[in-house]
Amino acid sequence: MIHFVGAGPGAVDLITVRGKSLLEKADLIIYAGSLVNPELLKAAKPDCQILNSAVLTLEQVIAAMVEAAKQGQTIVRLHTGDPSLYGAIREQMDLLDAYGLEYEVVPGVSSFCAAAAALKAEYTLPDVSQSVIITRMEGRTPVPPQEEISLLASHKATMVVFLSAGMLDKLTERLLAGGYSENTPAAIVYKASWDDQQVFRCSVATLAKTAKDHDIQKTALILIGGFLGSGYQRSKLYDPAFTHEFRDGHGGPNAAMPRMARSGDGHGGPNTAMPRMARSGDGNRQ
Ligand code: SAH
Repeated sequence: MIHFVGAGPGAVDLITVRGKSLLEKADLIIYAGSLVNPELLKAAKPDCQILNSAVLTLEQVIAAMVEAAKQGQTIVRLHTGDPSLYGAIREQMDLLDAYGLEYEVVPGVSSFCAAAAALKAEYTLPDVSQSVIITRMEGRTPVPPQEEISLLASHKATMVVFLSAGMLDKLTERLLAGGYSENTPAAIVYKASWDDQQVFRCSVATLAKTAKDHDIQKTALILIGGFLGSGYQRSKLYDPAFTHEFRDGHGGPNAAMPRMARSGDGHGGPNTAMPRMARSGDGNRQ
């Protein structure tokens, strides 16, 4: 059986329990050597065969899988983060289908989740953005023209840009063309969750300079949007005045939660406006 496993963003303890136990059982591990933390391979059995796919072609990867599968071996194809994002797994699965071989996918913690954790940020803030655009600049892999960065930027949604740390002048140009202002908050997260993780908060205008000053060219995510700023609305879910399936807002007959008193806003009805929250030193928001 072949298992496509998400290795997580880098830290060895950010692989899933299921992924780790498959690594321990595997007879063959083919890992994406450019980004997977090699420390993870220490979980392998002493006689496990380990191949680095960075030096292999798709055909060579599949040939190794087919050979091992014929012998009834347990095979782990280890991809960085979550395999569904820029993992090139579809082409592998299609070829395995052609061979009639069975496989499954074990999800992983994507680097974009680890980047938010590094920033202690929430991508989906009420009144700021409720959508996350995951994208990249075109490199040798083209990006469909309708997904050009300036078109995506025009939504002013939270943006996470993969695979583009070496093209920040161009990225900035397109973000500005899409309508972002120069002072829209941005961040660069280098090697999220690794021991040498680095986090830089900046703005759209200073993205390229920030990367240059710190010599960041790869293994980084670029994050853009008001979610990195200071303003937002509180959630409805935990609003004392809001009633939902599991809790009555205050005034309701089953109100069980202690009331949060705050001078000035009283305990109004469901439309009570929550104050804007502010974090000091966080720069601007759109
Ligand atoms: N499947 C992976 C992404 C693979 S594409 C995932 O879910 O994270 C490779 C790109 O992902 C890198 O160029 C970089 O932009 C980003 N990346 C992967 N790991 C990273 C990490 N730990 N920190 C920051 N960016 C990372």
